[in-house]
Amino acid sequence: MRDIDLRSDTVTWPTPAMREAMARAEVGDDVCGEDPTVNELEAEAARLTGKEAALFTPSGTFANQCAILTHSSSAGEVLLAEKSHIIQHEAGGAALISRVQLRPTSPDSSHLNPDDVAARIRPEGDIHYPKTVLVCVEQATGDGTVVPLKVLERMRKAAGTLPIHMDGARLFNAAAALGVAPALVARHADTVMFCLSKGLCAPAGSLLCGTQEFIDRARLNRKLMGGGMRQVGVLAAAGLVALREVRPGLAEDHAKAKRLAAALKKVPGVRLVREPEINLVFCRLPGWKGTGLELAESLRPEGIRIYPDEFGMYRFVTHRWLSDDGMAKFVKALRKRL
Ligand SMILES: *Cc1c(COP(=O)(O)O)cnc(C)c1O
Repeated sequence: MRDIDLRSDTVTWPTPAMREAMARAEVGDDVCGEDPTVNELEAEAARLTGKEAALFTPSGTFANQCAILTHSSSAGEVLLAEKSHIIQHEAGGAALISRVQLRPTSPDSSHLNPDDVAARIRPEGDIHYPKTVLVCVEQATGDGTVVPLKVLERMRKAAGTLPIHMDGARLFNAAAALGVAPALVARHADTVMFCLSKGLCAPAGSLLCGTQEFIDRARLNRKLMGGGMRQVGVLAAAGLVALREVRPGLAEDHAKAKRLAAALKKVPGVRLVREPEINLVFCRLPGWKGTGLELAESLRPEGIRIYPDEFGMYRFVTHRWLSDDGMAKFVKALRKRL
């Protein structure tokens, strides 16, 4: 039996339909643009996000870093939220790959605030200042919150002529939570990336979407970064199934998160940090006296997997392969320990 795995939505394995599509996929050398399945996936991604073109990349980190590199042709400064994935979880790659200065902003907020951006765009004409070259927003955020569309609209105004890149690793979760088309969520961003490998169950891959001109340059940068892959239609085939068949199920992942949060709230010693908006449930566990690692290890023999806390905060993630029965077992196991 598989573990009850609440660590992340990246632990999702491919659906049987994906496995079948992968086995049947038509392939070619994608570096030469000859993989028909990748071409189909890129066209589908561009259509869904309302952009002209798209580029298949090995990971979300790769797509974000490739976007920063492609947006920043000169030395400069990138404005983004201090809590953003690019600041916190991409190994500081932008300093090395794009030689830009990342300026962490809005430290007390789940998302980057338009007013903070407006106040930090560098005036021109002073040689002491780095040039502001890019604004990065995250949607949905790593805090599991969905940025209201109004905020993104205000961000567009605040950024003026600066390009906006949207880290939409969970773009479709945000769209499902807002009840709108993904293209509408990405409307105020010049470029957007989304992941196939999280709640969408595909084994790997992300897409970077933008204008044809931008994607042409990003394609060159993907090669430079070592991300040109060959008969990768086998992965793109899984991606197409992810977009067409798994994506509609994301709303159910969110409903599961709400059910899990409701059950956890009834457990003494659990403090829910906020009502879940997508598939991420954040809690503090004042009733647990050990370390997060000790809690994770104590659940392991029961086939339950969680990540230890980050600074006292636990994150439990719902996804397609987490059942109500699994969630109930987890809540019961937690109750026993608190
Ligand atoms: C997961 C994630 C990424 C990319 O992660 P990879 O593991 O490199 O695919 C980027 N941004 C956010 C917000 C994420 O959650």
